[in-house]
Amino acid sequence: MSPESTTPAVGIIDDTLLSLAELLRSWAVGLERSAQAAAEGGGLALDGLILDYEVAIRLVFFFGVLAVMALWEVWAPRRPRGLSRAVRWSNNLGLVVLNTVVLRLLFPAAAVGMALAAQSQGWGLLNSFEMPYWLAVVVAVIALDFVIYLQHVMVHAVPVLWRLHRVHHADPDFDVTTGARFHPIEIILSMLIKFATIVVLGPPVVAVVIFEVLLNATAMFNHSNIRLPLGLDRVLRWLVVTPDMHRVHHSTEDDETNSNFGFNLPWWDRLMGTYRDQPRGGHLGMTIGIRSYREPRQVSWLPGLLSLPFKGHISDYAINRRTWADGSQQEGSSREV
Ligand SMILES: [Zn+2]
Ligand SMILES: [Zn+2]
Repeated sequence: MSPESTTPAVGIIDDTLLSLAELLRSWAVGLERSAQAAAEGGGLALDGLILDYEVAIRLVFFFGVLAVMALWEVWAPRRPRGLSRAVRWSNNLGLVVLNTVVLRLLFPAAAVGMALAAQSQGWGLLNSFEMPYWLAVVVAVIALDFVIYLQHVMVHAVPVLWRLHRVHHADPDFDVTTGARFHPIEIILSMLIKFATIVVLGPPVVAVVIFEVLLNATAMFNHSNIRLPLGLDRVLRWLVVTPDMHRVHHSTEDDETNSNFGFNLPWWDRLMGTYRDQPRGGHLGMTIGIRSYREPRQVSWLPGLLSLPFKGHISDYAINRRTWADGSQQEGSSREV
């Protein structure tokens, strides 16, 4: 091999070593800043550190949890799969990519930008009171989770919002990719609700990042088709929404769908009276999805998912279309879910 032909390879190795050295150096700087932040007890330094590594933190958690759950689904599945993994995964994850691009284009600064603005302007409850930084972070994460719970109840109840949220529920299977499968308009609506919540709440920047990363990770966990020992599930569902708990919410039965709205903390359903222990048909016998939307092109392929909110009419699932015990009924009612 001539020296000329080895030079590019050596160059690449040199570059890689330099990049590694740079990575280690920035990690060391990060640790130093972290220690400094802890020593100062200051939240602002920690905010800066989190912002420096925000994208890396999000990517590591997303792909890390996705990989762990996907392997777990192969190793210990809860239910047999109904559809090919290749079709569902490519389309569900295609929707995730599309949503990420839409959000970045519309809101480049995202929720973290809004939290920074609230902090600099002194907006929001938590910016108006003196309290330990750690307490503000804990209160903010819990409050943001409660808002997500309320938002989830709302998108089931309001007919036009249920059109959007049907995209999440029409998935005829239930696995780790279902957890990230939402229509882009619902994603935009969620971001606007989050902005409003941040303005009112004034959460620390760190709390917003922790909340978003946590919600992303727990949503992938509790949509996974994984088998957990029943005893462990019983204990765990006091701390976090488990797959068996959230699967009830994906049943085709109306009353089961109207249960277990929590995505992260399990307490809201118990406090608000929307908790349901198990599906009537059992986890193996229950049907997942929406009863009247089963056609694979509509419920599994990306064009079908994007057009689903504009299809058909909303029938007796939404809050003002129901049939009541005295026989009174809204016009145009037909069973949908
Ligand atoms: Zn739902
Ligand atoms: Zn779900």
